[in-house]
Amino acid sequence: MKRKIASHYALINGRLERGIVVEVEASGIITDIIHATALDSMAGVEFYPGILTAGFINAHCHLELSYLRGAIAEGLGYGGFASAIGAVRGGYSDQERIHAAEVADALMWQQGVEAVADIANDELVMEVKRQSKIEYHTLFEFFGLRNSSTEGHFAMAQCHPNSHVTPHSTYSVQDSPFRDICLKNRELMSLHFLESKSEAELFSLRGSLWQWYERMGWECDFMRYGTPTERVTQCVSSNTRLLLVHATEATKVDIELVESHTTKATWVLCPESNRYISDACPPVELLRDAGAHIAIGSDSLASARTLSIVDNLKLIDSIPLADLLTYATLNGATALGIEREKGSIEIGKRPGLVVIEGANLNELRLTPEASSRRII
Ligand SMILES: [Zn+2]
Repeated sequence: MKRKIASHYALINGRLERGIVVEVEASGIITDIIHATALDSMAGVEFYPGILTAGFINAHCHLELSYLRGAIAEGLGYGGFASAIGAVRGGYSDQERIHAAEVADALMWQQGVEAVADIANDELVMEVKRQSKIEYHTLFEFFGLRNSSTEGHFAMAQCHPNSHVTPHSTYSVQDSPFRDICLKNRELMSLHFLESKSEAELFSLRGSLWQWYERMGWECDFMRYGTPTERVTQCVSSNTRLLLVHATEATKVDIELVESHTTKATWVLCPESNRYISDACPPVELLRDAGAHIAIGSDSLASARTLSIVDNLKLIDSIPLADLLTYATLNGATALGIEREKGSIEIGKRPGLVVIEGANLNELRLTPEASSRRII
């Protein structure tokens, strides 16, 4: 039995169009896209007031941290957040952690998330992800200046389909394991990137991160790269799909250097997390000016009130809504290499269908009340 679905607007080919009816078969595959002049007179059309899009791609999440919802105060800054998470992390049972992940996963599905690039430090919630209706791509995160062997991480990744090993960032992994990961994983990597000023300052032996490492007596053997961006462009293959997450401190020079190195980088913006931790905002205009590929992530409930993609988009709503929705759908799918099946309303795809309710349809803008709901 095929369903015919319509809204006031639908995101088609990157544009918000009126008068679209999407025909979907029971499997979720789109079989037709009809341009109708009078929706009211068409028989059998399910009409959902609002804006219809493909299912969302959450390009950066840590589902396993869902149990930390509300546990860390807002506005601590990046250093304060990092120490706070270390302090609260141990106080929960496995059951509590698994239950929180199940709840967050179910809500993401209801809100229309179709696939997630999900960071993991262990295997505790892998079963939640395996059973989920959402397609998870797990990135086992290698972290720690005193860790050198990546073997355990690659062993974990081998046990789970759709999973990879990734360095946490350019400041928390020494040269040899970083290069080792870049060599062995040429498919998909995700780096927390330029989230704070101190990341770049570290490479010039100054700033709060460098002072902390000095106090702890930790040495870094990667300073010769000169900057976090140089480290990335010199180590990560231009054939690897690369997610650069946050980039709140990225400059025009950083963006241009990455863009001249690879066409496979996606800049994953997590505006709610940036707001939560340091009242910062990602450089979305700068990235647009450079023609960069942008996607949207929620980050974790440790640093966000919500994993809702729409709530994240509200924080960068100076950008035209059609573009914002493209970041959250097709661009995320391309970043994960799943654009043949997901990411846009196209015949033959099975992208999921989502309605955005409560938007201002005259101005085509999100309102504070806007939300999303899965239809298919
Ligand atoms: Zn993160």
